[in-house]
Amino acid sequence: MPTLETPYSILNEIVRDVLAKSGRSTSAEIQLMPFDPRVLGFVKAGQNVIYVNTIPLKSIGSDKVKEYLYVVILHEYFHVLGIADEREVRRMTVEMVSEKFGEDSYAHRLSMSLADPRDVTLINSWKHGKPLSYM
Ligand SMILES: [Zn+2]
Repeated sequence: MPTLETPYSILNEIVRDVLAKSGRSTSAEIQLMPFDPRVLGFVKAGQNVIYVNTIPLKSIGSDKVKEYLYVVILHEYFHVLGIADEREVRRMTVEMVSEKFGEDSYAHRLSMSLADPRDVTLINSWKHGKPLSYM
């Protein structure tokens, strides 16, 4: 069982990063526990507890754990902040992770793999200088 020290230090970093970027912050708790391995983390409506799944976490190499937890906890933290729309949360996660870790990072690849395919197409189109838009 991993300790809570790393997830909490990452949560503190996320709270600072989101506050700096959006001016918003809230308090959150972290609970590590095993559940359906297809789900990396979740929050319950109206609560500030971020549940992080220990089953997929165990298979993450130690060099990638910090970036993995950053992506998973950031996603759930956006929900705790009150952003319910799943596609929007995934898109915001890609944006913040790319700025922080860069586009060659594991965190970027992970967040892109979790993003809505429509947003992946959009994000990739911006990189190649021919922006697409649904507007
Ligand atoms: Zn979500």
